[in-house]
Amino acid sequence: MLESYAAGRWFTSSAEGHVLPDAATGEEVARISSAGLDLGGMVQHARAAGGPAIQELTFHERALLLKELALHLGADKDELYALSHRTGATRRDCLVDIDGGIGTMFSYSSKGRRELPNDTVYCDGDLEQLGRGGQFLGQHVYTSRPGVAVQINAFNFPVWGMLEKLAPAFLAGLPTIVKPASQTAYLTELVVRRIIESGILPEGSLQLLSGSAGDLLDHLGVQDSVAFTGSAHTAGVLRQHPSVLHGGVALQVEADSLNCSVLGPDVTPDDPEWDLFVKGVVTEMTVKAGQKCTAIRRAIVPAAIADEVTEAIAARLATITVGNPADESVRMGALASVGQRDEVRKAVEALRASCDPVFGDPSSVSVVDADAERGAFMSPVLLRARPGAVEPHDVEPFGPVSTVMTYDSLDEAVALAARGRGSLVGSVVTHDPSVARALVLGLAPWHGRILVLDRDDAPESTGHGSPLPVLVHGGPGRAGGGEELGGIRGVLHHMQRTAIQASPDMLTAITGRWTRGSQRTVTPEHPFRKSLATLAVGDTIASPLREVTLDDIDHFAEFTGDTFYAHTDPEAAARNPLFGGIVAHGYLIVSLAAGLFVDPAPGPVLANFGVDNLRFLTPVKAGDSIQVTLTVKQITPRSSADYGEVRWDALVTNADGEPVATYDVLTLVAKETD
Ligand code: NAP
Repeated sequence: MLESYAAGRWFTSSAEGHVLPDAATGEEVARISSAGLDLGGMVQHARAAGGPAIQELTFHERALLLKELALHLGADKDELYALSHRTGATRRDCLVDIDGGIGTMFSYSSKGRRELPNDTVYCDGDLEQLGRGGQFLGQHVYTSRPGVAVQINAFNFPVWGMLEKLAPAFLAGLPTIVKPASQTAYLTELVVRRIIESGILPEGSLQLLSGSAGDLLDHLGVQDSVAFTGSAHTAGVLRQHPSVLHGGVALQVEADSLNCSVLGPDVTPDDPEWDLFVKGVVTEMTVKAGQKCTAIRRAIVPAAIADEVTEAIAARLATITVGNPADESVRMGALASVGQRDEVRKAVEALRASCDPVFGDPSSVSVVDADAERGAFMSPVLLRARPGAVEPHDVEPFGPVSTVMTYDSLDEAVALAARGRGSLVGSVVTHDPSVARALVLGLAPWHGRILVLDRDDAPESTGHGSPLPVLVHGGPGRAGGGEELGGIRGVLHHMQRTAIQASPDMLTAITGRWTRGSQRTVTPEHPFRKSLATLAVGDTIASPLREVTLDDIDHFAEFTGDTFYAHTDPEAAARNPLFGGIVAHGYLIVSLAAGLFVDPAPGPVLANFGVDNLRFLTPVKAGDSIQVTLTVKQITPRSSADYGEVRWDALVTNADGEPVATYDVLTLVAKETD
């Protein structure tokens, strides 16, 4: 009997439970039931223990725990692979699910430390000046919700499905309750067991519900969210749940999707793109036995070459061996269950109403090293749509099935793709930039992600079907309308965005980031002499005035080779409508400013690694004077180094106090002084 992990302990239901069979042999792997589990107690535990414990940590501390967890899970994958084979997965499929899930955690760990502050509040976008005097400002911030993230997952990715949702939710400060699909929940249970045993995550941040979701949603409220991956049918049931309809529970849906790959009219059988297209379709039909939400269900090809393309796909499908997923020579394993295979057969039958068979018999397959009668095996099936076919745009065969359909114009190709009513991902295979632009702009409103594949990006391409942690996963319409991953976007989906209206001093206090207009602290010691241990947000150095002479400008022009007329030709510069005479180079101003604020002796400041948001605001003419005010804006210690990043606000002004240039100076500063 699979166990659930609830409120800090493992729970075993005393019910008889449902049998979960091995996909390839039909033998019982486990039983599952959630009868007797206190689902309300799990929600309470998440809110009372998990959330507060995670929210005590900064984004960087959470990110480091994700890395530790990824390393822990990656250290012993063999037992996960062995169990994964029982879901029907081949070694290649395991890589997608298990390594893909662990890789997503690494990716979020590194993005979290690079792109989020070492804090618990995240500033979104620029300051908005709301009052004339600069004392009334607006700033959007994201904060963690005091709720729980419930994930309800599909059977096809028992590991990736959990980890890709867990990583962004955890970074966002939310505890998670995982409810895997029953069919393959034994693999999710093993991973959760390893996570809990490791003790890496604070108690309450991850709980597991093995079995039916029961009344879980009844216990959720306005600060909670449900991320669902599965069929459009179940999504419809959840959308109508009172907690979602009236209770303010946020529901995020990743549902089924009839993804397409479009072959450009420019491609001939001699082009590399031809093979890329054919390989792409076959890979997507056969990885995970086609049980991928991103799989290519519709191959949209130019009518003139449709016969040749169809033959090429069929020829490649003929090389696919089906059988025991643990056998290294097998290319395609079993579907998740016999029931699932029967569903796919039914879907093929429905497709036959408007499609002709090209390759594969849905009811018979020869298998390697397995019993075709007991396992959920099925041949890949390729169909060809007849003109005006309806079913291929409507019926999702969640298995190794795809349909070829034809177009005469790019508009028609886009119209065919759009008949899927919204997809997770589409591919455009072409080497013609104008075809790529026309197709991508036509397809984009119907897709969450588009792969434009050609000979140039193919060697590095991760392929059509792989969601990447840094890119958005989700799609409009039929695909569910949800959005997951996408780097830090995926974290922010879990947080509350609030517009704060306040004075600069208040915003500095609230965000932990110095806001222009708020108090500056002039310290007796130059801030470059201070380590992170003593440096504080608001510490400032204001330089004396320095004159910028014509000699300086000439020298800089000659020295750098930047002899642009506005710096060297008085008559031409006088005719420039913006300058009306010789002006200093913007980069000269930035360089002189550095000379004004830098404290040169060796000390805690280790390096300058760039500037952000550089703007030149008022031209500096020969004879004008400038001064610079440098203020500590943000301090971000790096958890894994003995230094951190200091972002300085640099404001260069002229003798009249007008702003000449503004920018952020980025430096690395030691945590302690030797
Ligand atoms: P499913 O039958 O809809 O089940 C999905 C999940 O919902 C399972 O965990 C299931 O639990 C649970 N569930 C079922 N009824 C529920 C209810 N009334 N309340 C709460 N939870 C409920 O889908 P599936 O057959 O597992 O997955 C196949 C489908 O998922 C395909 O259509 C595929 O396209 C889609 N999919 C989409 C994505 C994506 O990212 N867009 C990814 C993968 C799959 P039990 O298993 O315990 O019933």
